[in-house]
Amino acid sequence: MVNKEYRKQAKISKNSCIKCRKRKSIVSNGFCRECFIDLMERRIRRYLSENELIHKDDILTVHDKLSLFCLKRAIKGLPVRIEFRPKRMDYGSMLNELSGKTGNKKQKAIVPWTVDHENHYFLENMFKQVKPKFIGILGGKIKLFAELLDSELALYAKFNKISYKPQIKDNFMDSIAKRDNNLRFSMKSAVSEIARL
Ligand SMILES: [Zn+2]
Repeated sequence: MVNKEYRKQAKISKNSCIKCRKRKSIVSNGFCRECFIDLMERRIRRYLSENELIHKDDILTVHDKLSLFCLKRAIKGLPVRIEFRPKRMDYGSMLNELSGKTGNKKQKAIVPWTVDHENHYFLENMFKQVKPKFIGILGGKIKLFAELLDSELALYAKFNKISYKPQIKDNFMDSIAKRDNNLRFSMKSAVSEIARL
């Protein structure tokens, strides 16, 4: 959430974007539409590059239009093969995809998995007292939206006129993060730490 103090210190008025500082309507977390879109795309690119998930000559299988759109923007110019095989990607089919066998090292599946999916998956297994097997970075599978909230992805999709419906309704997480969405990110970091133990 945008810190009032930050605006004050940086001398940014209430009606301006905290990034470009222009007086525009604020769409999310203090950002105008353009800066919000830019931020989302940068987060995806940073996630892919920091974790070295995509390499030259990879064969990337994509099942949904939103992932296809974002992937193409993220990899710009990198010579990879993208295979688009449309399929409904709900939570269940994403889990199937994550648990499926991987082909050769160059073959990778793109899954539209978000911060909320990661948290939900962890909590679901914790309550069942089962070790969650598909937390964090997985070989041959790329959680394209691992650094985005479901709500952010929905807004991003809307601005780009692509349909996307968040499918996770997590009352437990919603009640914790009611006032502060950052808690969703904190939870995800904690989950990765726990999974490493
Ligand atoms: Zn802006």
